[in-house]
Amino acid sequence: MAAISAAKGGAETIMVDRDLAGLDHTANTLFEGMASASGVKVEDCYLKKELDGMSILSPSGQSACIPAKGYFIDRKRFDEHYLSLAQSSGVALLAAAAGKSRTEDGSRIVSLNEKMDASADEIEARIVVDASGISSGLSRQAGLVTMRHPEDIAWAMEADIEHPGLGEEMFFQYWIGSMAPGWKATFSPAGGDRATLGVFVRGHGGNVQPYFRNFLKLFKAYKASQYRDIEKLKILSVRRGGDPICVLPGEIVADSLMVTGGAAGQSGLAYGMRAGTICGSVAAEAVLAGDVSRRALCRYEQLWKREFYWQYRMGRASLQTLSKMTDSEIDRLVRGLSGKRLISEGSFAKKAAYAAGMVLLTRPRTALDLAVNLMRG
Ligand SMILES: Cc1cc2nc3c(=O)[nH]c(=O)nc-3n(C[C@H](O)[C@H](O)[C@H](O)COP(=O)(O)OP(=O)(O)OC[C@H]3O[C@@H](n4cnc5c(N)ncnc54)[C@H](O)[C@@H]3O)c2cc1C
Repeated sequence: MAAISAAKGGAETIMVDRDLAGLDHTANTLFEGMASASGVKVEDCYLKKELDGMSILSPSGQSACIPAKGYFIDRKRFDEHYLSLAQSSGVALLAAAAGKSRTEDGSRIVSLNEKMDASADEIEARIVVDASGISSGLSRQAGLVTMRHPEDIAWAMEADIEHPGLGEEMFFQYWIGSMAPGWKATFSPAGGDRATLGVFVRGHGGNVQPYFRNFLKLFKAYKASQYRDIEKLKILSVRRGGDPICVLPGEIVADSLMVTGGAAGQSGLAYGMRAGTICGSVAAEAVLAGDVSRRALCRYEQLWKREFYWQYRMGRASLQTLSKMTDSEIDRLVRGLSGKRLISEGSFAKKAAYAAGMVLLTRPRTALDLAVNLMRG
């Protein structure tokens, strides 16, 4: 999105990706609320399944349903769609791994250390945008600390699974509690027999496989009455990675350098896309105005903060609270909300449902209060 918006803004733009020929990204679900707020229109060409909302599940299996439209996307097709959009916007694509960078005469020179294109050893650019995900190697090498709380990256393991009919369910399931400390375990139906199961854990190191194994057991037990032979559920493939859900962006601009998306601690597919769009348009303006200094590029940070800072700030505070809640507190919270009609029809209602979902996921204490109030009502 940064490349597309820089090109649309009039800058000559090259997008470098080391895996261009076989992109293998992790994010494959979106909520309509976040997508529309980010200017992302979900297209049929990559849509796998439209879902009716999310179910929040507590450790003992209490559940609360929140109708908030969501999508399971075909990530390969999604990437192809945006690559083709980039090309039609004038972005040149280059398969190469970016290595170190240095500044020279108001430009930044990036070396391409794993050469795949014989003609490309170095690229000289007025601005380099680092959108390389949580590793953010280019920015780190340039001396930027792009995340304020990198220790709070949620480490994740997600599996593609198969079982007859499992993908036909209409609600995402988000489990909260000690099965995935610090954040969540997920079940995302992808249509037909396919789905994904994942754990996102903070504060327990990068090896989250033991949490995944336990969650798999919990999940099978929970679904046993609904599906025959759930024990035989097949795991087709596994992805691992880190999600910077609540690390908060740190230094995201320097002279002729900008950082966006996961690399900048701007977690989430839709919000990351919006951040990239802001970043690219500020980059184009700066290049055209001939001022690529840190001071000029700070406008990106200001615009991003105006749209997103408080959401990320509150999200972090809430997930910190969640990680301190006991399983029985979480059970009480979810029990309080289960069976309550949180919304009715209409677009305001949809927003309210989405907000309720987000509150529940990211501000559990507030949701606990809400649950108590609902019970009183
Ligand atoms: C298992 C898992 C599941 C997730 N699921 C979801 C989800 O369903 N929905 C959601 O909203 N969020 C999800 N997230 C979070 C989400 O993936 C990230 O917040 C966000 O998508 C990051 O996008 P990005 O483009 O910034 O980085 P990435 O998706 O990591 O992309 C970085 C790109 O940079 C390239 N690259 C890296 N280093 C170099 C280099 N040196 N030179 C050249 N190219 C380089 C890579 O090849 C890659 O294409 C998930 C995270 C994980 C770990």
